[in-house]
Amino acid sequence: MIIDAHTHIHPDPKGFGPHKDASAETLVANLKAAGISQAVVLAIEPDMGNDYVAQKCAEHPELIGFVSLNPLNPQSVTEGFTTYIRSGKMHGVKLHPRRQGFTIEHTREVIQLVEQAAELRVPILFDAFPYGDTYYKIQEVRMIHEVAQAVPQADIIMAHTGGIHVMDALMVVKGNRNVVVDVSFTPFWFAGSTVYSDLIFVLRKLGANRILHGSDSPEVPVGRSVEDTLALCDQCGFNEGDRSLIFAGNIQRLLSKASAQ
Ligand SMILES: [Zn+2]
Repeated sequence: MIIDAHTHIHPDPKGFGPHKDASAETLVANLKAAGISQAVVLAIEPDMGNDYVAQKCAEHPELIGFVSLNPLNPQSVTEGFTTYIRSGKMHGVKLHPRRQGFTIEHTREVIQLVEQAAELRVPILFDAFPYGDTYYKIQEVRMIHEVAQAVPQADIIMAHTGGIHVMDALMVVKGNRNVVVDVSFTPFWFAGSTVYSDLIFVLRKLGANRILHGSDSPEVPVGRSVEDTLALCDQCGFNEGDRSLIFAGNIQRLLSKASAQ
């Protein structure tokens, strides 16, 4: 069984550029064609809004929605938890510092949000691919460390294994039992570089129970991403049991906590 733990959909099919199709229907068709059972779909307000993602998840039972919440607007956070998480419409939280305009300076506000998610036992996924004009400003990997230390009961997913900071990601995940990584986008973007070979080292050190498969579709096609993750598994020497954790077991464990309450 395969679950893709990191995908996006957009109300404008060209919302990820003219050469990618970001519609929900295309994602669902691509999952089916690649033999992928389910996908986590991450909302990013306002472009990929919560109402839109929740609606598409209701239409397509193979899609599992994560709500986009803004730590700089505490009232909307409280409302978002009620509307999307307590109602059972969505099953985790997506935070995107670069697109939502918060940085390491706002760690206190982020902790307040993450405490609420932990109470509801839903995972929190942080974008961690430093890029663009905030490259030095946000410090995503350090923010995740601070939050993981402050809220040890929270389940945190560091997306993209920290991007260029894969070695920092290793130390943060090793130092915090409540953090896992997803391998979306980074093996694709850094293919052929030393970051890619470092990624293999990092994943081997982390062990299969700290790794989630994800594509970042439509940035990387869901089928191509399965091949990328399988190649990483080969190079890490991960066996069948390890692979079943990476491709499904780990994300299932994180998602099952809320319903087991
Ligand atoms: Zn993404």
